[in-house]
Amino acid sequence: MTKADARCLHEVFEHQVDSTPDVVALECGTVQLTYREVDERANQLANRIRRAGGRGGHAVGLYFDRSELPVIAVLASHKAGVTYVPLERSWPTERIRHIVDELKIVLCLSESTLAEQWSEAFEGVVVLAADEPSAASATRLRDDEVGVCPTDLAYIIYTSGTSGRPKGVMAEHGQVSEYVDAFNEVCATGIGDRVYQGFPMSFDGSVEEIWMAYSNGSTLVVPEADAPRYGDDLGHYVAQLGITYFSTVPTMLATMSRPIPSLRTLVLSGEVCSAQLVDKWYRPDMRIFNVYGPTEATVNSTSTECVPGRPVTIGRPLAGYELHVVDENLAPVPPGEKGELIICGDTLARGYVNDPDLTAERFPTLDGLDSNGPKRSYRTGDFVRWNDDGELEFFGRIDGQVKVRGFRVELAEIESVLGEHDDIRSACVTVYQGNGYSELIAFAVPEAPEREVDRNSVLSLLASRLPVYMIPSYLDVVAEFPRTTSGKIDRKQLPAPVLPLVRTRVAAP
Ligand code: AMP
Repeated sequence: MTKADARCLHEVFEHQVDSTPDVVALECGTVQLTYREVDERANQLANRIRRAGGRGGHAVGLYFDRSELPVIAVLASHKAGVTYVPLERSWPTERIRHIVDELKIVLCLSESTLAEQWSEAFEGVVVLAADEPSAASATRLRDDEVGVCPTDLAYIIYTSGTSGRPKGVMAEHGQVSEYVDAFNEVCATGIGDRVYQGFPMSFDGSVEEIWMAYSNGSTLVVPEADAPRYGDDLGHYVAQLGITYFSTVPTMLATMSRPIPSLRTLVLSGEVCSAQLVDKWYRPDMRIFNVYGPTEATVNSTSTECVPGRPVTIGRPLAGYELHVVDENLAPVPPGEKGELIICGDTLARGYVNDPDLTAERFPTLDGLDSNGPKRSYRTGDFVRWNDDGELEFFGRIDGQVKVRGFRVELAEIESVLGEHDDIRSACVTVYQGNGYSELIAFAVPEAPEREVDRNSVLSLLASRLPVYMIPSYLDVVAEFPRTTSGKIDRKQLPAPVLPLVRTRVAAP
């Protein structure tokens, strides 16, 4: 098989295994595995998944600490024909349970050191410890046994949703492998490259890292569980590992003050990248890319190479991607005018789990974008404009979605959870830049003005439902929200925050 017709992700990997079996594929601390060894480990786990009843169409949870194991679990899921669903250890049990129930997850891949945590989140779910010794066969499953095809789901990644619950984005093998081919035209790595696997699996940046390595025979280097997570300690760690390809978000890069000499490719994504950051990090022997893309269009959709002295744009579409700028009626705007960015092409996700209405709203089939007839599109909610050089300038969101330290957050999800509290009639959350960095701050109108809002139980409610990065740093009670003339909350008129949202009494046992 040639690379061009390897459309399922495990086929892309197996093609590489057959070409470079003895090259190191995966490293974490003292663990070092060649492509052949990773293939065998993944085959074994895939055989175990099948033995445990995992079949095409099943969603299988991944619940791991950082190590080489989750990467093996991703490959094993693809080989076994199941869809992997990252479940982060840092998420509240309730959030994990919601996803387990929504997807009817009956099988989960994890590791034995986390066994104590399984019982609560995974009641009724079979959990396989990927680190357990196994006598399962290490040979590849046969195609006629598994029968995965490019239209099968490769993964479901959950992202913040406006309804008070996260929403699952479903990506098919063929959609992801199209993206991999397109992104390889921008910044393919090669044998000898060392790709850092720093993004959590629940962030589709991890898909970029894994597949930039495994479509090119590079080494994927996973940080150990106790490795530094930001700042110069992280920069030093990355340099010591001899990383050549580093993909991160601008706010993370901004925490590092010293150059990383080993780097040859630096990929920035997820949020606005400033010209100052490019000026600071630019070196003639390292390429810097600013890339843009929502999870719903599969990892990255545009890219540009950044050089000092040039304004940073989000660039041009990747090969095979079609981008349009439209007005509120979804009709193309005249060239050079601002509007919402629409993405069309083969990499658009299948849609959202169990939400045909939202899928239809966000992925409309539009006629009139050009003369080629109706086509499926994704409404990004991003406000952009084509510049004279044919690159897209980014002007922010047209809705309540924000990025906080690279994490995608729907303000409405937090507001909706706050609104469930008995003491709160309505809530409004916004991003505050007061301390030099972005923080979420919340305001609440109380249900009964004479009764004090129980801040401890508000915090408990938020902590039981939302990841830590979505919990506002402040909560202030106000009599009413400032409103625009049309009656909408006027977020710009909200006051500076006063009262930090911290626990003031220990919860009763
Ligand atoms: P996610 O689905 O987490 O990748 O978030 C996608 C959203 O992040 C996009 O719709 C944009 O609002 C924002 N985003 C992603 N990349 C960039 C970028 N390079 N510059 C500015 N915003 C970005």
